Amino acid sequence: MRNKLLTKSNYVIGLQCPKYLWTKLYEKEKIPPYDASTLHRFEEGHLVDKFSRDFFPAGTDIPTEDFMGNIKQTKELLAQRKLIFQAGILHDPIYSRIDILNPTHHNVWDIIEVKSSTKVKPEHLEDVSFQKYCCEKSGLKIGRCFLMHVNNEYIKQGEINPKDFFNLEDITAEVNAAMLGIEQRIDNMLKTIGSEQSPDISIGKHCNNPYECPLKGSCWNFLPPGHIFELYYGGSKSLQLFGKGIHSIKDIPANVPLTERQMIQKECESTGKPYISEINIKTFVDGLDYPLHYLDFETFDPCIPIFDGTRPYQKIPFQFSLHIVADENSKPRHYYFLADGVSDPRPKFLSSLKDVLGNSGSIIVYNQVFEKTILKELGEAFPDYKEWVGDVSDRIKDLLDVFKSFDYYHPNQRGSASIKSVLPALTQISYEGMNISDGEYASLSFLEMAYSNITKEQKDKIREDLSQYCSLDTEGMLLIVKKLKELTEK
Ligand code: SF4
Repeated sequence: MRNKLLTKSNYVIGLQCPKYLWTKLYEKEKIPPYDASTLHRFEEGHLVDKFSRDFFPAGTDIPTEDFMGNIKQTKELLAQRKLIFQAGILHDPIYSRIDILNPTHHNVWDIIEVKSSTKVKPEHLEDVSFQKYCCEKSGLKIGRCFLMHVNNEYIKQGEINPKDFFNLEDITAEVNAAMLGIEQRIDNMLKTIGSEQSPDISIGKHCNNPYECPLKGSCWNFLPPGHIFELYYGGSKSLQLFGKGIHSIKDIPANVPLTERQMIQKECESTGKPYISEINIKTFVDGLDYPLHYLDFETFDPCIPIFDGTRPYQKIPFQFSLHIVADENSKPRHYYFLADGVSDPRPKFLSSLKDVLGNSGSIIVYNQVFEKTILKELGEAFPDYKEWVGDVSDRIKDLLDVFKSFDYYHPNQRGSASIKSVLPALTQISYEGMNISDGEYASLSFLEMAYSNITKEQKDKIREDLSQYCSLDTEGMLLIVKKLKELTEK
């Protein structure tokens, strides 16, 4: 029999999947290292956690590096009835660390969990229910439970006041509901972590809920290309079919009702050929007016706002790429902007964009909601540009529409209409091998370039990689439209 503690984070993992829990404890080497965006999320979480200390300036922070030292100091501070940050509560074999333990009346304590999210999520309730259970088992009387999360309506003006930045939400009733049956769940998890064998768990919805499991790469690798979970908006239908032993889209029985797009996908999986709606593609292509402007923005969205007038997680544009094709016979001209330094990039971004966008011709983007939202927010923040951004938005045409509506679908898209899937399927050009190959990594790279202490050579390299990445997005759109035109001219 193995002997391990069940911690709060492992309890949450165990709720998602016992196999994930067991692997994390005993075959950790099978879990891939965290990617850059997950690490960034953790870092933001730590920053928010640190910032929460300013909400309760009288609190005492207990260092966490020394496990037993933390538990000992917690006991001392509990006896003194002090507000504690990072209290360690051990009731062998369960252990929990509490972000904030706040003494209230008559030996009662409130639990406050700090999260960098902007609302309460079901997994937070499970997390706090374990903390409460652990505290009560070790003899503490718990009164209320709170989630201290980010107030997404907060707008920075000068120094950030934590009382405005955070929302303190009473979740006592929800936590009490989440505690029903907790003893049994903990017992089951203790059996799992006491076992010599990894539990045999089938793949399913839990692999993505509440988070994508890092073991998907190994657990899902038996599925064939064109598998049932690639079915467009397959959801519970995919799960039911998988439960019946159907692993490939092409094997879906004829009597299973499918949406029009799913039927196209099934047909393409069976034939290996693309589906092309020439009429609809022609309508889209004919609706484009020269000069054609292929436009793409990159943004970053800090949890703790950096610039006055911005909200938590507001997307701040720092880069655009623009390819302009003047007429049928012209070669594309490329323009781009990439912010420099640490000041608010938006004024320069706007003026640079206005300089090159002209007053006529279609502006082609991929997923117009994104670009239109950024433009709208820019117009609100800089009223001198309000009318102009309105005109620009009216000229936007969304290339994503062609693929979201399945007017074109290639089986190599694997059920995705993202440009990352469409571009290689249509043109054989891909983002593979690029140092920056997605928008999230682009924003992290920009933050590193602008705000971290790296050498000039490193900064120059990031600038180059960012330029390459953003320009492929607009060049990619240009190539896709060219290909679509060819399809309608055959
Ligand atoms: S991929 Fe799914 S089945 Fe495999 S460990 Fe993760 S949650 Fe469990």
